[in-house]
Amino acid sequence: MARSTGISDRLPKQPADHRYRAVLLLGAPGSGKGTQGGILKNIPGFFHFSMGDALRNIDIHSPLGKVFYDYTSRGELVPDEYVIKFWAMTLDAHATLGDFKPLADLLVLDGIPRTLNQAKIMEKYIDVLKVIHLVCRDEKVMFERLRRRALKENRVDDADEKVIRRRLKVYEESTKPVLDNYPGDKVTEVESQGSPARVVFDILKVLSPIQDQHYTGVAG
Ligand code: AMP
Repeated sequence: MARSTGISDRLPKQPADHRYRAVLLLGAPGSGKGTQGGILKNIPGFFHFSMGDALRNIDIHSPLGKVFYDYTSRGELVPDEYVIKFWAMTLDAHATLGDFKPLADLLVLDGIPRTLNQAKIMEKYIDVLKVIHLVCRDEKVMFERLRRRALKENRVDDADEKVIRRRLKVYEESTKPVLDNYPGDKVTEVESQGSPARVVFDILKVLSPIQDQHYTGVAG
């Protein structure tokens, strides 16, 4: 039974033919999603949405903030029912406020969907044009990135080695299978070791042709 969190039980009505055009950034914790998302969000025509950031912005003393902290501090995924409703609500608010312009912007989703169930539910709302799978094959590099971020951003989930290990396991078990939800030609693997400039260059090689097809010049 869901706890009362103050978020609406109803998903916003997004007609199937008005789905948001989206690309997904998918990768294990420490694969560099945050760094790349931070670069992409500064490029006109992209609207970057990080689910982790959105959840971290919730007041930790609010009912929903407590639910989030309860899961995230253990390295577990927040249940789909909360995440999807909060995602849809927050994105709707960005569209209403006008910082996300669905007709002009390509939505770059970072950290969502993270389960197959989320991906299925979201099909009603988004048209996934491309999936960027960020891959870092060196676990030591991933751990180091997470530890540095824990210190810089005061993140409880990345400060504890046990929680990091749990996050990596959850990624392998629940999030990696999301890749199989999309046809192979939509998924591009990008090696995330190396300089942020080289990685973003590889990502943009994939995304800029998509943006060329859709960019209206009215973004930003
Ligand atoms: P991130 O900053 O993307 O690594 O996310 C931090 C934490 O937020 C994750 O370990 C989860 O506890 C939670 N979280 C973020 N996105 C999702 C999602 N799509 N589904 C469930 N939990 C999420």
